[in-house]
Amino acid sequence: MTNLIPKSHPRAKSLYIREQLVHAFDDGLVAKEGLMAHGRGEAFDYLIGEKTSKSAKNAIKAAAFALVCAKHPVISVNGNIAGLCPKEIVELSKVVNAKIEINLFYSSDKRKQNILRTLKKNGAREILGVDKKNTTRISSLDSARRIVDKNGIYTADVVLVPLEDGDRTLALKKEGKKVITFDLNPLSRTAQTADITIVDNVVRGIKELIDVCVKMQKKNLQNIAFDNKKNLAKSISEIKNYLERRAKLA
Ligand code: ATP
Ligand code: MG
Repeated sequence: MTNLIPKSHPRAKSLYIREQLVHAFDDGLVAKEGLMAHGRGEAFDYLIGEKTSKSAKNAIKAAAFALVCAKHPVISVNGNIAGLCPKEIVELSKVVNAKIEINLFYSSDKRKQNILRTLKKNGAREILGVDKKNTTRISSLDSARRIVDKNGIYTADVVLVPLEDGDRTLALKKEGKKVITFDLNPLSRTAQTADITIVDNVVRGIKELIDVCVKMQKKNLQNIAFDNKKNLAKSISEIKNYLERRAKLA
């Protein structure tokens, strides 16, 4: 399948990412709805010029600071994340000493097991969210979506929830968690609700996040002034500027 995308294609990287997600769907990691969520993300990636913007870099610094300083950081993993960047999730969890918890919007034991296997193959040791004996509920959410691990999201102070749904983000906020997200849509409810929103493709941004965490740990930590609303406004004006430049080129 990869041969179908020549390296010279102007959107080769984006098409590789799409192909990776399709493989992850075929391997039973990603839900059908996850493919659609990816399509929504692709559209916004197009609008930001498929590169990490200045506002995303700001948010990455703030996110790294929050993760490095957290007492109980947790990375919440769904099918799309497991399909797109399992190696980086495991690496980040080791760098900032965060727990990994599988938490699915469309819950399925089979998919959880497939995700578990993929994360283990990529070096994860402990993975939460799979042992039903350790689960509890967070309020203000219905059905399976409110089930979390007692030693994971339930006790976390900082939670990284990439590509998350707005209802869950809001529920985590109500539980007093500091929420960090990757979301290509600066207008989504998750983007607007989180404490720190990284408007970037998680495949690009997570590598930068790991690098910044490592650098911060080596140096003396500096507190970073960060206002999510202002930063989101900046990312929206970056989209506007990019579109205006494109329109002039056309
Ligand atoms: P919300 O529930 O927050 O209002 P939504 O209902 O539009 O958002 P969801 O399916 O709940 O969307 O969440 C998935 C989010 O992940 C979308 O905002 C989508 O743009 C974003 N997304 C998809 N793929 C990526 C990616 N590779 N990197 C970053 N964000 C992505
Ligand atoms: Mg949603």
